Amino acid sequence: MEVFIIIFGAIITYVILYFVIKAAVRNGIIESRQQGSVGENSINDNQLPQKTCPQCNKSQDFDYPKCPYCNHVH
Ligand SMILES: [Zn+2]
Repeated sequence: MEVFIIIFGAIITYVILYFVIKAAVRNGIIESRQQGSVGENSINDNQLPQKTCPQCNKSQDFDYPKCPYCNHVH
């Protein structure tokens, strides 16, 4: 009976460790993903201001002095 208790305790310890490590890894991944996505979103938001070239109708960054596609000077 003691052997059963030892094995059972070992299994429970394994399961608890498994979930603790899994939760820690998942939290780390989620945090890194959220930070990455937030950073990417903020970068995209910063890059989003765009205008459409009146000559070739292609979108381009707002701060381009002239169209990179048709060299139309704005
Ligand atoms: Zn253009």
